[in-house]
Amino acid sequence: MEAEKDIPKTTKCLNCGTKFEGNFCPECGQNADTGRFTMKLIVENLTSAILGRDGGVWFTLKNLVTRPSSMIVDILNGKRKRYFSPFPMLFFCLALYIVILSFTNEHAFKESFYDSQIEFKGLDDSEQSQTEVYKLFSQTLDFLNNHYTLSYIMTLPLWLLGARLCYGKNNRKRYYWAEYIITIVYASVIVVLFRCLIKLTYFIDKDLSLQLGTILSPIITIVAFTACFKKMLGFSIAKTAWRSVLVTAMYYILLGIIILIYVIISVIILAKRLQYI
Ligand SMILES: [Zn+2]
Repeated sequence: MEAEKDIPKTTKCLNCGTKFEGNFCPECGQNADTGRFTMKLIVENLTSAILGRDGGVWFTLKNLVTRPSSMIVDILNGKRKRYFSPFPMLFFCLALYIVILSFTNEHAFKESFYDSQIEFKGLDDSEQSQTEVYKLFSQTLDFLNNHYTLSYIMTLPLWLLGARLCYGKNNRKRYYWAEYIITIVYASVIVVLFRCLIKLTYFIDKDLSLQLGTILSPIITIVAFTACFKKMLGFSIAKTAWRSVLVTAMYYILLGIIILIYVIISVIILAKRLQYI
């Protein structure tokens, strides 16, 4: 009986068909004893995805909050299996934010643009074109609000450019653009989680929540970027923080330029349309 146990059993991988000995398929990594789905297995999968030490969401969040810098250096150096992947994590947090937002009767972008009551008088004299411009902007804002995750992902290149320009010089080693993206996405997870917390204050005091959002958003971003990038860059805290201020400023400048270009182009298009019809 004992001898029989020691003979390695050959298994055929149910995922890719490779014949192998051992616990995991050498070709695709699938577990050797993959059986049929049972309720027990589903519960186990779910608990290990959320609470598990290897790649679990909770473990990753805990590390991201308590030792972000070390966690990111771990990941960049190849310790990947321990942590939940950055993009699914960000999508998860954005989904959470949208759920909270849906309970507050607010929209992600409306309060900052709609309520600022932009005056279009300088752009064109006719009342009609003002309405046209306003209609176009409202449509754009509606689109961005309805596709919040997409809008958020679209801002990542701006953060990437800012980070590359402001952190790129004199850091520990030359990082790839992709390595910056991974760190930015984890920093964004922290930012979005804090935004969720701020949004929750809506249920205590609506105005307070709006003010907190406006004041704290850039500060949280700077703190999150400093916390995530410090060890990777090998700078002192002060230097990383200062560069993070520059990254955030750069982001708002780039965003401002893009909005300006969008406004100019749409005004030109509308002005032409109104003149020649
Ligand atoms: Zn396989």
